[in-house]
Formats: sequence, structure tokens, C-alpha cells
Amino acid sequence: MQALAIMYHDVVERGDFESSGFPGAGAHVYKLCREDFERHLDALARATASVSTVYKLEGRPVLLTFDDGGVSFIHPIADLLERRGWRGHFFVTTDRIGTPGFLSEAQLRELHARGHIIGSHSRSHPTRMAALTRAEMDREWGESIARLSGVLGDRVKVASVPGGYFSREVGESAAAAGVDALFTSEPTARVAMLGGCRVLGRYVVQRGMSPEWSGGFAAGSRWYCWRQSALWKAKRVVKVLGGGQYLKMRQAILERKDQ
Ligand SMILES: [Zn+2]
Repeated sequence: MQALAIMYHDVVERGDFESSGFPGAGAHVYKLCREDFERHLDALARATASVSTVYKLEGRPVLLTFDDGGVSFIHPIADLLERRGWRGHFFVTTDRIGTPGFLSEAQLRELHARGHIIGSHSRSHPTRMAALTRAEMDREWGESIARLSGVLGDRVKVASVPGGYFSREVGESAAAAGVDALFTSEPTARVAMLGGCRVLGRYVVQRGMSPEWSGGFAAGSRWYCWRQSALWKAKRVVKVLGGGQYLKMRQAILERKDQ
């Protein structure tokens, strides 16, 4: 089984990156301006006719996912998706519900009623999920799923891993909390199974990436998918080699497009 899942975060108006989601430069690099996001959606529409949801994994569908729980999920993101007849997967950091920049309980219910899929993005968004003890992981998933299910009046079974720090234990903990589809940040189209839970990778789109990246991921282009996969593997190597080597590898990978 395969799926081409793409990971976005917030989409803001007039470059106001503080208006939605987590504050600070580290979070802002993942946020897109609305005009740019619309160009990404145009590229998706050109690349594929199979934008779908995790509940309908037929063929090799394209799944659109959004992390953190920012207030931009409802306006403009959901509005723009619906114009094309698409639905998104929206992952919410439940401790932040109703706080400045994040969705309220009423907005979550509205998104759910409009046919979008609401999932957990943990309770507190730990910096390194995989470094938590199993008991802490169980609390992150369990309490967050319970809160969301209560808000929506519907059992929540979908989640994404905060910070992309996935481990087998993180997946087993999510499965034990009732998650049957867990999205990671590993750029792969492969869908794995772990304790009855589907584990799906995702290709990330962040600010500064051209719409061709969204289109390339949606088309399953080896060129775009491979490049992100190579970069992701290089990032893992940084822990062993140190920052300087990582930056050189990153540059080498990015420069390949000019050949
Ligand atoms: Zn996150």
C-alpha cells in the first residue's frame, strides 16, 4: 500500500506569521503566505486527480495534512481546499486549543462538520517525542485523543508525530491509544503497519519551496521525492558527523537541480 502524503503547517495573510500556530522563527519557516499556498494548490490540481483521505486509500492517493492546530486551518486553508472539493487532515496540539493563534473547540467542531479529518498532534508538542518515557508518551497520545474525541463527539483515530521524532515505541504508544493511522515526517510513500496501526510518511513543504515541489510530490515524481528523501537522510547523519558536514551535503543536494 502506498500514499503520497504532504505535510503543511499554517497559511497566513499578508506575511503575518505570528497570527497562527506556534510563534518564533523556528516555527515560521514552515508557514506559507496565502498567495503562495494557492499556487501550491494549483500545482497539486495539475499533478493529480486523486486527492483523498486516509479513510479511502485506493490506488496511490494524495493526502493533504496540516500540523500544529493553528487558527489558519479554518480560514483560509479549509476554505481553499473546499473550493476544489478537497478535504484535509488537520492535526491539533490539544493543550493549545482556544489559546491565541490556535483553533477553538467550536472551530474544531466546525472543521469536523465540514468533512475534514481532525487528528491528534500530541497533547503538549514535546520537542523530542521519541525521548519520552513510554508512560509519558501514553499520556501525550491518550489525553490528547480523549480531549479531541470529547470536543468532536466522535472517536478520533488519526494522529501525526510532533517534530517528526518517530520511533517504534512512539508508534506502539499511539496504537495503544486507539490511533489507526499515524503520520510521521519520513519522506516516503510506503505505508507500514505497526500493531494494527498504519504508519504513513510525509513529504514536507515549507516556505521558500516552489509550487513545483507540491506538484512533484503529488505526482510521485522520483526527482522531487528522491531529493527530499536524500536531504532527510543527510539530516540524520548530522548527528554523527556534525553541523558543517550536514550543511555541505545539503548544499550538494540542492545544487543538483542546476545540473
Ligand atoms: Zn508540530
